[in-house]
Amino acid sequence: MKTQFTRLRGMPDLLPQAIAPWQQLESAVRHAMCAYGYGEIRTPLLERTSLFTRSIGEATDIVEKEMYTFSDRKGESISLRPENTAGCVRAAIENGLLQPGSVNRIWYTGPMFRYERPQLGRQRQFFQVGAEVYGLAGPAIEAELILLSARLWRELGIDKGMQLEINTLGDNEDRTRYRDTLVAYFESHRETLDEDSLRRLERNPLRILDSKNPAMQAVIEAAPALRESLSEASLMHFEQLQALLQGSGIDAVVNPRLVRGLDYYSHTVFEWTTSELGAQSAVCAGGRYDGLLTELGAKAMPGVGWALGMERVIALMDKLGVSPAQHAPDVFVIGTDEVAAADSLALAETIRALLPDCAVVHNTAAGSLKSQFRKADKSGASLAAIIGSDELANGYVTVKPLRGPHEQTSVPALQLGETLQRLLEQID
Ligand code: ATP
Ligand code: MG
Repeated sequence: MKTQFTRLRGMPDLLPQAIAPWQQLESAVRHAMCAYGYGEIRTPLLERTSLFTRSIGEATDIVEKEMYTFSDRKGESISLRPENTAGCVRAAIENGLLQPGSVNRIWYTGPMFRYERPQLGRQRQFFQVGAEVYGLAGPAIEAELILLSARLWRELGIDKGMQLEINTLGDNEDRTRYRDTLVAYFESHRETLDEDSLRRLERNPLRILDSKNPAMQAVIEAAPALRESLSEASLMHFEQLQALLQGSGIDAVVNPRLVRGLDYYSHTVFEWTTSELGAQSAVCAGGRYDGLLTELGAKAMPGVGWALGMERVIALMDKLGVSPAQHAPDVFVIGTDEVAAADSLALAETIRALLPDCAVVHNTAAGSLKSQFRKADKSGASLAAIIGSDELANGYVTVKPLRGPHEQTSVPALQLGETLQRLLEQID
């Protein structure tokens, strides 16, 4: 019986014809990270499950129902990373990066895995770019991280309709105080809570505020605000951040309901949302996680960072019409049946050496000249370079522009590079 292999649900293939905006995003990211002095880190896709339960938190959606967790051959529980803040902190501690007084600015990109219900803008394998900073406690580094993301939106041409939402969760003491207030409030509205929220009321009441259940929105709206439980110092931190953002020309809206889905945040949290993408409007999210590093075994060390969803950024690039077109080959090399494959292969190599920035495709399958030209046309190439027995004997190459009004010409070998370059410039 023939077996038909299909991809797993929510795990898309990325094909060459759709890769151009990905590469553009990746190169904009590399450029921006370099401009701000962030170093790239690459950590494994698999980590011990305990790293994620410990850092993200037991009573979060991710840990409760979204992780790909299984036992390896020795029976150890391991998980595909659902996010990479925990992995980065683990790596920083394990590799001794977090010396007292040190500042580390790092960034990463790669696939993340969450067992969610796949829908537009929500997949089970998706890609993130993230930036993380260890060692700076003040609001200035939060402003820097936000400026870095804003620069990316501008560079990619997707700043239109992007809105920054910010909030503060205060420090641990503030949150303990708030937690008590919140539990008392939700206890008195027990009958309106759904099953998830009732469970969270015991384990993590703040997370009730993050519920997406429409039936819960009214009781959440009326809940006491965290703001009233904040200490002077926490309020000052948040006000300073707002002043820094304002001074840098970044428009931020304070959203007191923004709590974020992960347990490890404290003080500032933020999210970039867009009006252009419908329901999955969160493009980038982050915040401060000062408690996480000690939780995972570091000496006291502040941390802050963000992660963006690459699929959503690309959807936005498509929607706003700023995605680049797929690049077609520049030169398509054809050998007539009179010459050996070695001759046309050699011609392609020569052109690649002469024009190192060009895409040169060699037609490895022989055939009539007519069918070879058909393939050349189909490839979208700008020029065809043809080598036959006459060309070989007399030391020239026939060059035929495939687009535009230019005529076919015979080009002496010595002028090949220069002529191809000129024709390519005229065609593009
Ligand atoms: P959401 O509220 O959309 O579920 P989240 O709070 O779970 O997002 P984070 O863990 O903060 O998301 O991840 C940062 C970014 O990664 C999100 O803002 C989003 O752009 C992207 N992202 C998260 N989950 C997915 C997914 N399943 N598919 C595609 N992108 C995702
Ligand atoms: Mg989520």
